[in-house]
Parts: sequence; structure tokens; C-alpha cells
Amino acid sequence: MHPETHHFSERSKRAAQDKDLQDALEGLATGFVARRKDAIADCAHFEALRNQGRDIRTRTCADLERHLLSFEAKAEQAGSRIHWAETGDDACAIVEKICRDAEAQSIVKGKSMVSEEIGLNAHLEASGYAVVETDLGEYLLQLRGETPSHIIAPAIHLSEHQARATFLKSHDTLNPKRDLGTPETIVGEARALMRDKFLNADVGITGANFLIAETGSAVVVTNEGNGDLSATLPKVHIIVTSLDKVVPTLGETSILLQLLARSATGQAMTAYTTLFTGPRHSTDLDGPDACHIIIVDNGRSDILASDAAEVLNCIRCGACLNHCPIYTTVGGHSYGWVYPGPIGAALNPALLDLASTRDLPDASTLCGRCEEVCPVKIPLPKLLRQWRAKDYARRQTSRKKLAIMAWAWMAKRPTLYALWASVIARALKSRHGAHHTVPLAKGWTTHRDFPASEGQTFQAQWRRAKKKARPS
Ligand code: SF4
Repeated sequence: MHPETHHFSERSKRAAQDKDLQDALEGLATGFVARRKDAIADCAHFEALRNQGRDIRTRTCADLERHLLSFEAKAEQAGSRIHWAETGDDACAIVEKICRDAEAQSIVKGKSMVSEEIGLNAHLEASGYAVVETDLGEYLLQLRGETPSHIIAPAIHLSEHQARATFLKSHDTLNPKRDLGTPETIVGEARALMRDKFLNADVGITGANFLIAETGSAVVVTNEGNGDLSATLPKVHIIVTSLDKVVPTLGETSILLQLLARSATGQAMTAYTTLFTGPRHSTDLDGPDACHIIIVDNGRSDILASDAAEVLNCIRCGACLNHCPIYTTVGGHSYGWVYPGPIGAALNPALLDLASTRDLPDASTLCGRCEEVCPVKIPLPKLLRQWRAKDYARRQTSRKKLAIMAWAWMAKRPTLYALWASVIARALKSRHGAHHTVPLAKGWTTHRDFPASEGQTFQAQWRRAKKKARPS
């Protein structure tokens, strides 16, 4: 997906006027937000889990190389093949080669944000492969030529009637008068069509929620089971994931899974939680003949060494999106790239560049709700403020810098500052009570009048009042 992050302002204005989108976004409060609240109320030790989760992620990221090498050793011992990809293009080329070697005709794919980030579908399709998304939301988006608008619910922006219309238009070989009147019939049609795709696919691609260093397993969680079918039915399973997904042990993974399910969908445990440890073994009833795990860096090593490193602690639950007053007003597409909401505003400048994403850190009221709900306590407002400060420093022209330096010099000399302020106060006096224009303040006076001064500074008025009040 080509980044459109520099169009946040126009996109968000359009989104705020989009009736279908606004209806869909209203459902977030009654859906994800309410379910998360109930799930947390049922878990007395949730706060302790959050502290553990934060510590696991921080410790792991601080010693990432060691854990990744342990994962590589264990995964290869289990029969998986590990590929390291420095960039998104490298990762796409590796996937393409695996598909070519497997003489793949058709590919099924589970939801993976990393594959969205690196543009994997577009790359494979340009190379002549047919890729079918198997997550229902992703499938709908593929039919409509759209991108995901939410980390865990990619088609959250679509209404039921839009889903129905999409199926009627796209599945044009089926009876146009068939019953698609309920969500169940829509899901049933997708399931029936998908079955053949799974059975005939040569390669299955999934992401991974976690990589367990202790066992060499990749953990995939879904609520539809499509990840399991994509992984086990085709003869080759390719896992595309990023290096920040590694977790040292199985025990620590179970803590993160408890946090993920409750924070994402308000469940105690996601419906399908599968650990893939190598390809099919001789005693297994099913499974792929080969398992390839592609670990993508794509700028994360640099982030790890920067003051934005905490952003890599994210476990992609989506809770910060669901609770953000900006995301819930403008939706995910306004952000213009794969990762929307507060996590996107903190991550995208690091993965892309600050110049093209500079509006995103500003797309926050800094109310702090995102940090309050984050299961691993990422200080998102702090990270957003850091980006704002960097952008401010980046955009200062030398003329502005000189002006600020001159002001700072004068502000440190009280007598001179008082003299300068009294000249300005006198110059801004007006009998009309306001100025329509003020030199050097066009940004203000274009939209509103500038209030006139009393003709004296506050200090001067204070001194005069004190003198008057003194007994003679
Ligand atoms: S930043 Fe926190 S709340 Fe947001 S998606 Fe990541 S883990 Fe979830």
C-alpha cells in the first residue's frame, strides 16, 4: 500500500462527512469497547498482567538479537526454514522465490499487517500469482480494492448492506436472486467459496502474533479459523512476520495472549490459538510439507536504537484505536497507511519518515486514553509529543530560529524586556477594541481579530495600582 499519510487533513474532513463510516464507527463503543470493559471486570488480576506484559516486552526488546537467534535455532531444529529480510522488498522477493520453487498456482492468505506493510499482495499479483485473502474482512476488502482500516477488524468501516452489495456484484456467477438477507447468509456464502480455495491452494501465507524462542513456534490467533486452514492445508506454509514478535518463553507468551484477547475483542481467549512448530512431522495427520518463516526488519532495528523504541512493544490489539476520540471520528483510512490510530501515529513516522507523516502525531488530543487502555502500557502520548517536538525542530527555518534566539536573549534581560513590551503594548492600543490585521500575525488575524492592548503592560499597570493603593 502506497503511503498517503500526508493527506490526513483532507481525508479526515471527508471521513467526518461520510454517513456510512460514521454509523460503522459508532459501533466501536458498543462492540469492542464494551466487551473489553466486561472482560477486564471479570479478570481481577488484569493490572498485574499488564505490568507483566510491559516487562516482558521491554526486557525482550532490550535483548532482541539473543532471543531471535534462539528462535532461529529452535525453529530450524523443528524443521522450519528461517529467512531474514532487511527490507520489505527483500521479504517480497523471498516469498516469490518460495512460491516459484513450489510451482504455486494459487495462494491463500491469512490476515497479516506486516504483509500489508511490505505490499506483498501487490508484489505477488504483479508476478502472476493469484492470492486469495481468507479472513472475511480482508476478503471483502480485496473484492472492493480497498485497504484495511483497523488492525484487528480490517473492514470495520463497512456496513452489512455494503458487504451484501459487494458479494452480489463480485460473485456474479451465482444466482442473483439468492438470499443474502442476514449476516449468517453472507458469511455462509464466503465460507462455501473459501472451502475450494483452501483445498486447492499450493501455498498458504499467514502472519504470526508471536514467535516463541523457547520452542521455535509461531503463534497465530484468529476467530475464524482461516489462519489454521491457510497454514495446514496447502503443501507449503509461509509465515511473514517482523522481528519484534519474538517472546522468550511459552509461559510469557501465555501472559501476552491473555492480554491480547481481552484488550482486542473482549474474550478470555481467542477462538483459535495455534502454535505452528515446523512442518508436518511423520506422526502428524496433516500439515504442510515445508514451513518457511520470514522475519522482516524493515527499519525496526533503527527504531530499537532510537528514543521511539517503546513503540515496538505493541502486541497489535487495537484497543488504543477503539478508545481514541480521533480514530473513532475519522476512521482508519484517514491515516493513509497500514497502521492507523494512536499506534499508527507513533509508529508510522518511525517506519516511513517524519516529513510525510507529520500530521499524524498532531492527530491526537493527548487525552491519554490510549496509554490507559494499552495492555503493555506503551506511553503513546509521550511518543507523540516526541514526534511533535522533532517536527517542530525540523520545520524551523533559520529566520524563525533567529527570531526565537533573539526573543530568548531579550527575555533573559528583564529591563530590556519590559521596555520592549511597553513599546509593543502602546503600539497595539486601539480605540476599536481589536485589530483586523497585525504585522507578522497573519496566521491569527486571517480567522479572527487580535484583541487590542490597554496601552500598558501588566507590570506597569500593577505598579501603578500598588502606588495608588499606598496610604499617602
Ligand atoms: S499500542 Fe497498545 S493498545 Fe495500541 S495496538 Fe499496540 S498494544 Fe494495543
